[in-house]
Amino acid sequence: MPKIPKIAIIGAGPAGIYCAIKILSEIDAKIDIYEKNSPLHTLLPTGNGRCNLSYNEFDNKILASNYPRGEKFLYSVFAKYSPFDTIKDFNDMGIKTYIQDDGRIFPIKNSAKFVRDTLLSKLKNKVNFIKKEVNEKLTGYDAVILSVGLKNYPKIMQSYGHTIIDIKPSLVGLKIKEKEFSELEGVSFNDVIFTKNGVSGPFIYKLSSYMAYKDFPYKIKIPLICTDKLTEYVKLNPKKQFKNALSNFIPKSLAGVLIKSDVNCANTKKVDIEKLEYLNLTATGYDNNGEIVHAGGVKLNEIDNNFKSKIYPNLWIIGELLDVDGLCGGFNLQFCWSSAAICAKNIVQQLRG
Ligand SMILES: Cc1cc2nc3c(=O)[nH]c(=O)nc-3n(C[C@H](O)[C@H](O)[C@H](O)COP(=O)(O)OP(=O)(O)OC[C@H]3O[C@@H](n4cnc5c(N)ncnc54)[C@H](O)[C@@H]3O)c2cc1C
Repeated sequence: MPKIPKIAIIGAGPAGIYCAIKILSEIDAKIDIYEKNSPLHTLLPTGNGRCNLSYNEFDNKILASNYPRGEKFLYSVFAKYSPFDTIKDFNDMGIKTYIQDDGRIFPIKNSAKFVRDTLLSKLKNKVNFIKKEVNEKLTGYDAVILSVGLKNYPKIMQSYGHTIIDIKPSLVGLKIKEKEFSELEGVSFNDVIFTKNGVSGPFIYKLSSYMAYKDFPYKIKIPLICTDKLTEYVKLNPKKQFKNALSNFIPKSLAGVLIKSDVNCANTKKVDIEKLEYLNLTATGYDNNGEIVHAGGVKLNEIDNNFKSKIYPNLWIIGELLDVDGLCGGFNLQFCWSSAAICAKNIVQQLRG
């Protein structure tokens, strides 16, 4: 390499910061990181402040199946940089991790702040942070990395000539049409929590991800009660009020909203039991709570498998800004680490000639 290369990173979220760390672990470079807010502020709320940084799945195809958008593209991505590589590199940086029973990976310190501080400490006095919103093309750099996420429309992509696929919230709570459930705010069942205006919780986040491009209103079907077990219970307790029998299966308050009559089990019809297999609701819009990521972003066929732009020279695009998004479980941060590490390696190779 004849001279120290000049690199710009726009957006100091997990993807941009990790990319800087990976580049500097290989070469000397003058890196300017442009950030309109404070570096890694988006990492702080992750995992409810605990930072669910990856997911324990080492079969790349199974891992990729947790991404409603980007699945096939991710096979080669995870072959190059997987959760295994992440755990090893984070461990080497002093971020030891553990695996929860459900497969989610967290730092042993259970602290997103600790992860943020450790990552930023790797860049101390090594990069130049510039507090600025960049919406135009940058010139004078050997490589430019775009990692601005999708929280706001990425205007900058227009100057670089890239196409943005329609951006939609994902992993988000939903408003519902049925007003009778609003009195159940805070009540939960089967990974669903009632909110003031609708429903939230892991089941709903997942559903919102798969339905990201469906127009409102749409019908949703939430598994409620195993009706075989309910039928058996009803037979064994003929004198019991049916709505009281239900509270052995679902919260009492929910049973009270679903069944208004005082009918006893002996007089409950089969068809009324069968209706309780699912809770049928109508989603009418987003209820902005939860772990929001975004579906949509830069079209994957406009980058190569090293995250280099096919449209504009010496430009790389990583993280949530791309049309890739995963379910809850550490998948979205894993994509940030993988895309950043692969991009860094490719830039280093290119700069070394
Ligand atoms: C509440 C919450 C909890 C979450 N928890 C988890 C979790 O536990 N596990 C998980 O895997 N995922 C989680 N996610 C998702 C995860 O946070 C994102 O996938 C991840 O932050 C995306 O990283 P990124 O670097 O691509 O973009 P971002 O994190 O969005 O970072 C982009 C950065 O660029 C800056 N920026 C934007 N535009 C410009 C501009 N024009 N000029 C300069 N700077 C700019 C922004 O200020 C920001 O700092 C959570 C998300 C939320 C909202």
